[in-house]
Amino acid sequence: KVRVRFAPSPTGPLHIGGVRTALYNYLFAKKHGGDFVLRIEDTDQNRYVEGAEDYIVESLNWCGIPFDEGPGKEKGFGPYRQSERKDKYQKYAEKLIESGNAYYAFDTSEELDAHRKDHEAEGKTFIYNWHNREKLKNSLNMSQDELNEKLESGDDYVIRFKSPKDEILKLKDIIRGEIEIDTNILDDKVLFKSDGMPTYHLANIVDDHLMEITHVIRGEEWLPSLALHFMLYRAFGWQAPEFAHLPLIMKPQGKGKLSKRDGDKMGFPVFPLEWKDPKSGEISAGYREDGYFPEAVVNMLAFLGWNPGTEQEFFSLEELTKVFELERVHKGGAKFDPEKTKWFQQHYMHEKNSEILAEKFEKVLEDKAVNAKREYTVEVIELIKERAVFVEDLWDQGYFFFISPTSFEPKDSKKAWKEDTGSLMQELADLLSAQEDFTAENLQEKVKAWIKEKGIGFGKVMMPLRIALVGALQGPDLYKIAEMIGKEETINRIQKAIK
Ligand code: GLU
Repeated sequence: KVRVRFAPSPTGPLHIGGVRTALYNYLFAKKHGGDFVLRIEDTDQNRYVEGAEDYIVESLNWCGIPFDEGPGKEKGFGPYRQSERKDKYQKYAEKLIESGNAYYAFDTSEELDAHRKDHEAEGKTFIYNWHNREKLKNSLNMSQDELNEKLESGDDYVIRFKSPKDEILKLKDIIRGEIEIDTNILDDKVLFKSDGMPTYHLANIVDDHLMEITHVIRGEEWLPSLALHFMLYRAFGWQAPEFAHLPLIMKPQGKGKLSKRDGDKMGFPVFPLEWKDPKSGEISAGYREDGYFPEAVVNMLAFLGWNPGTEQEFFSLEELTKVFELERVHKGGAKFDPEKTKWFQQHYMHEKNSEILAEKFEKVLEDKAVNAKREYTVEVIELIKERAVFVEDLWDQGYFFFISPTSFEPKDSKKAWKEDTGSLMQELADLLSAQEDFTAENLQEKVKAWIKEKGIGFGKVMMPLRIALVGALQGPDLYKIAEMIGKEETINRIQKAIK
């Protein structure tokens, strides 16, 4: 059975790159009838940020990609926070020592710094592996007695992986194909520290194994760790999962990784939800609070590194789970395009059920102290949603359905409001007030006939009428507006504009 995991570290708000990783994991799992696991990688307590885990969970839920298993959803593979799994890791580090794949090292950071400096002075780089390990303070160069003594005396140590000499590793990645790595460039990574905490590498591999993860889908920044992870599986004698490393998300201008600063500078969020930093109090914008629908964000993220190979651009989550394939994920960086997100948003705005939009829009109406019947609001939304990108826009596009215009600015233009317009509007007002049937169809018929009879241009009547009813030269069909606001209000507005 396919089992994938999203394994963020709770070091801050989840960047949209992280959301994309979660999304691709989710899609892959759902496509194959598998499980999507959330694992919190919080072994580095120094980088732990209050509220980050809740933020991650809320983000996944908002996007509609909830995890099947994870903190609070125990399914027999928990706990799902590494800090609660602390007692599991040491024995695996010790196993590697027993099998000769790892060793204790006692070098202090000052000593290592000194080695680095010495190497630099000779124009070389210091690598802690077979090049140097014989000269360093580790159990490979000690007698068993010496080692025992050091361990007993409580000296700080780390356990390092012993990477092999002169081997070409052949690694496989679903997206990148075969990758060859020369082990001579790999340093002996730290797996475990004497404070009892594993490093990311050890905890990650042990947990993926214990949680029976079949596919590791993660960001490209973890590709350099693949060789070590591969060697760890081999050293443990475990079957490794398959790997897929997703392309980096690049700045809109193309060069370099997308950062929070790019978002701030250009006015678009790089986080799914608004985030308030618990220390600085600084607030970062989020897609949810900026008015985007999760459908738009998910659709945008799906295309950030993947394409379906067809012309289709709009996909619901459900459709995505059917067509998504890791083989169609690109290798090259994916350029982030904020305008594209807006474009998706606009699409989903138009698609969205007007009842649901009305419910959201009522919050805006409330702020404007407008009280309207749900039925009326829905009808208004049907007329104007084509012109809106966000729910907030519905007000700008349709305020005149709810309140009288407060100014008739376009009147100032001699083109729109001529000298005889006032009397013409009075005549029109009389015509309208004589109508029993105030439907758009009837009004249109009567007004058209009257204009024809007078032998004047349509614009001469319709432009000032629009100014009177809307206060601006915008909005949907005028007869429909008149019908919606009703006879009395229509006449009132015309009278007000004439003055
Ligand atoms: N904790 C790592 C992260 O924050 C997980 C990387 C992985 O998926 O292996 O992204």
